[in-house]
Amino acid sequence: MYQGSRRGWMEIIAGVMFSGKSEELIRRVRRAVIARQHVQVFKSHIDDRYGGVYAISTHDGSALHAEPVDSASAVLRQVRKDTTVVAIDEVQFLDAAIVDVATELVTSGRRVILAGTDTDFRGEPFGAMPALMSVAEIVDKLHAICVVCGEPACRNQRLVDGLPATYESPTIFVGGSESYQARCRHCHEVPKADAKQTSLFGA
Ligand code: ADP
Ligand code: ZN
Repeated sequence: MYQGSRRGWMEIIAGVMFSGKSEELIRRVRRAVIARQHVQVFKSHIDDRYGGVYAISTHDGSALHAEPVDSASAVLRQVRKDTTVVAIDEVQFLDAAIVDVATELVTSGRRVILAGTDTDFRGEPFGAMPALMSVAEIVDKLHAICVVCGEPACRNQRLVDGLPATYESPTIFVGGSESYQARCRHCHEVPKADAKQTSLFGA
């Protein structure tokens, strides 16, 4: 619907880890290049898990060159005058100013594609993702497969030394002994550090 528009718009690819956000971002960028658009791809410098900070890689090994950025304002500084499509991966790690920056890029006539994890390991909204999803024209929420039960997964399970991370753990946990799994709401575990879980429904 928006492909032929000369005006800018914003599209969000949201979802948990392993849901295929990077695959989808790469697919859209490759199609934009085929359409002879001038594309710039950015990625938060925090995430350098696969292939170094200069690439967006998917969990199945596909890759695309990307420019690392440490802030929303860095995106604005690095966008070239003739760029018509701006794509950013791991956008949940950028500061809140990304909402204004993305809006400014759209207002100046660019297509802006933003991929990010919309919930943190607790299952709570992550960074600027909720605000971006509100102001975007198009939002796609992707799901992974729950590694426990096989149903669609919408939560990031953080494990530290193989055990579910407690609610009080930091939101961004770089370089620790943690790992992540995709899980559904029902198999997702976030224990409180101080033992007994309380239920809204009593007992
Ligand atoms: P994201 O950017 O959302 O983290 P990627 O695009 O990097 O996702 O990777 C998606 C790929 O991860 C899938 O196509 C699949 O090959 C692989 N994968 C590994 N574990 C899972 C899982 N639990 N559910 C779905 N896909 C998975
Ligand atoms: Zn499950």
